[in-house]
Amino acid sequence: MSHVMNTYARLPVAFVRGEGVWLWDQSGRKYLDGLAGIAVNTLGYGHPALSKALNARIASGIVHTSNLFQIPDQEAAADRIAEITGLDEVFFCNSGCEANEAAIKVARLYGHKRGVERPEIIVFEKAFHGRTLATLSATGSRKVQAGFEPLVSGFVRVPLDDLDAVRSIAAHNKNVVAVLIEPIQGEGGIHVSRMEYLRGLKEICDRNEWLFMADEVQCGLGRTGQWFVYQHAGISPDVVPLAKGLGGGVAVGACVTGNRAKGVFSPGKHGSTFGGNPLACTGVVATIDAMKGEKLLDNASTVGRVIREGLAQGLAGTAGFVEVRGMGLMIGVELDRPCGDIVTMALEAGLVLNVTADNVVRLLPPLVMSEAEGRQLVGLLVPVVKAFLARPAAAAPVSKAG
Ligand SMILES: *Cc1c(COP(=O)(O)O)cnc(C)c1O
Repeated sequence: MSHVMNTYARLPVAFVRGEGVWLWDQSGRKYLDGLAGIAVNTLGYGHPALSKALNARIASGIVHTSNLFQIPDQEAAADRIAEITGLDEVFFCNSGCEANEAAIKVARLYGHKRGVERPEIIVFEKAFHGRTLATLSATGSRKVQAGFEPLVSGFVRVPLDDLDAVRSIAAHNKNVVAVLIEPIQGEGGIHVSRMEYLRGLKEICDRNEWLFMADEVQCGLGRTGQWFVYQHAGISPDVVPLAKGLGGGVAVGACVTGNRAKGVFSPGKHGSTFGGNPLACTGVVATIDAMKGEKLLDNASTVGRVIREGLAQGLAGTAGFVEVRGMGLMIGVELDRPCGDIVTMALEAGLVLNVTADNVVRLLPPLVMSEAEGRQLVGLLVPVVKAFLARPAAAAPVSKAG
């Protein structure tokens, strides 16, 4: 019996080798990676510059020293992140939920500094911000929250794409100090915010001096063809939690602040033992430098378009297919029924992907995927989806709410 705690329903495959966008399992079978370890492996597998930098960091003997000392790799990583976000200050942590925890603390402290005793944060239906108590309380999914009550208070939930709901809160609730939004919802099913909506929300934040906090843990870092989705909307947020793709596979998170959130924290207000360690920050620097050098943002737009168009064409007219949506290499294929079985069917066909929100096939490939590999992905996925939808056992459509 396994001694690993039973928190994941794992697939019966272990990947033991990787190169570019390709993975091999223990029996030597090859798979095309459409998931990148859930948007983590930005540069795919075995990227020479990343491997070289990490190996050199380990060979130096310094993997961790602690934030009690100067960490040159952390300075270099913070410089890179400030440059690509257009913001000022980076707090390093180790995961997305920690990055959001830091954002929530920034918002509360910002509120207290303005004399709001019980600061509240606006969050969204279907949102996902993590599995710690504060972040699961901010998350808009009962499945994530159930059994962990009492939830952390101080969150007000609104529907997606409804500025009037936010305006009405602004008019009545003087405790609100911030809005926390995923500009593209990931776990919720690849829901892309309209750019005018993001701009409208930013305007409401500015008018009320709220913090605009963009959780770009999944959608950020080049995946959509810009470094960040808020850049497509032409806005500059106050707080940006990051993680997943930031270290090219090394565990690292960051809470980035600027504008109204600049200078909120001071020594003693927040911390993390491992946060910003030399190994993780080496991963950040090597990943961002390789992304720039190899123009991976442009690549994500181009290959993303190839995949979305290929899937839309390949699946057009198939009963049970609803739509393809997304931006760049963050893609969802919505079906009219729960489709968890597609994950195993795709694996059998040699394709790694995942299903979220029950009925959305999710693709988050490494940003190094080529156009030809994008077409291969389409060629593998279309027959799998068609075969799935043709199964009589899967013929009962779910309601939209399911
Ligand atoms: C994955 C994710 C998180 C949580 O990240 P962890 O590293 O799993 O804690 C938070 N926000 C978003 C948008 C995510 O996709």
